[in-house]
Amino acid sequence: MFNKVTRTWSPVTGCYHGCCYCWSRRLVEKRLRYISEKYRDGFIPKIHEKEFKKTFKPGEFVFICDMSDLWGSWVSREWILRVIEHVRRFPKTTFLFLTKNPRRYHEFADELRGMDNVILGATIETDRDWMYREYKISRAPLLSERYVAMREIDWARKMISIEPILDFNEYRFTKWIIDIQPEFVYIGYDNYNNRLPEPTMQKTLWLIDELRENGITVYKKTIRKAWYER
Ligand code: SF4
Repeated sequence: MFNKVTRTWSPVTGCYHGCCYCWSRRLVEKRLRYISEKYRDGFIPKIHEKEFKKTFKPGEFVFICDMSDLWGSWVSREWILRVIEHVRRFPKTTFLFLTKNPRRYHEFADELRGMDNVILGATIETDRDWMYREYKISRAPLLSERYVAMREIDWARKMISIEPILDFNEYRFTKWIIDIQPEFVYIGYDNYNNRLPEPTMQKTLWLIDELRENGITVYKKTIRKAWYER
């Protein structure tokens, strides 16, 4: 069982989802674009040829594209195929994909088939579509679309990231996660003081217990009181 990313690999960077809490965009715009050739164009999506020279060791747990969403609707099929083909060269390394647009996993079902070392992940921060739009959290596909895409994909190794957690409907959100049947779930609060519509800590702890009681492995990230409780 894996709970710790040992390495990140970013062959594609940049993202158009526009999440209000995006730390990657801030890091790139405030700092990286001035000091790194890779980020010279800021957060505009780009593929980086040099990254395909990198190799991975057996036993490593690699999070792919932590500075973008590789499966965003704007990413070309060619870029995604490049990444999948490179991953295919390292069958003894575990790779984690994470997206807010898991519908695109379905497009690549044939290319991904047989890659048992690949975990397909999705971020689902809450089950409340209305709140997501009202608070202008992100332009990414709605939570309910992500849920359906993850539930329907025929893949043994899935994960869900509930990070940063947003307030939720207890019964429905728990059901969504159980329906998806992930290998594991990450749950954590926002780390960057964005004052998001968070659940109380008690509610989050309840969710963790409920998922565990239903046989789901949960790894706690930052668990704390909501900003309005402090
Ligand atoms: S999906 Fe990730 S990389 Fe893209 S804007 Fe949102 S937080 Fe940033």
